[in-house]
Amino acid sequence: MATMITEECINCGACEPECPNIAIYAPGVPWELNGEKHDPLSNDFYYIVPEKCTECVGHFEREQCAAVCPVDCCVPDPQRVETEEELFQRAKALHPGKEFAELTPETSHFRK
Ligand code: SF4
Ligand code: SF4
Repeated sequence: MATMITEECINCGACEPECPNIAIYAPGVPWELNGEKHDPLSNDFYYIVPEKCTECVGHFEREQCAAVCPVDCCVPDPQRVETEEELFQRAKALHPGKEFAELTPETSHFRK
């Protein structure tokens, strides 16, 4: 399940640079994928693009946005439940030039 940012967000910006997939954008900023720009998903709060979020699978042991958010508003989106395999495939698709090792507890929160 992709991570989402709730309306508790205080727009501090701490999460944006932590995302390994550039899935987090400031309010009102268009998001990009494969060179295409898309309308912002929020004009009021920082937002996460579900098509770019892997719950940090492939990169880190837990969701980095949630780890740094001072108000705990980066949470699992119950509308977007996804398997570890789906998220790992997305990570590979987002980083075509990168060699991913087999997942471990250090690169998937599913392995804790
Ligand atoms: S969970 Fe990870 S991949 Fe998803 S938005 Fe947060 S930092 Fe980015
Ligand atoms: S770290 Fe939390 S409060 Fe700060 S911009 Fe990101 S989601 Fe909003």
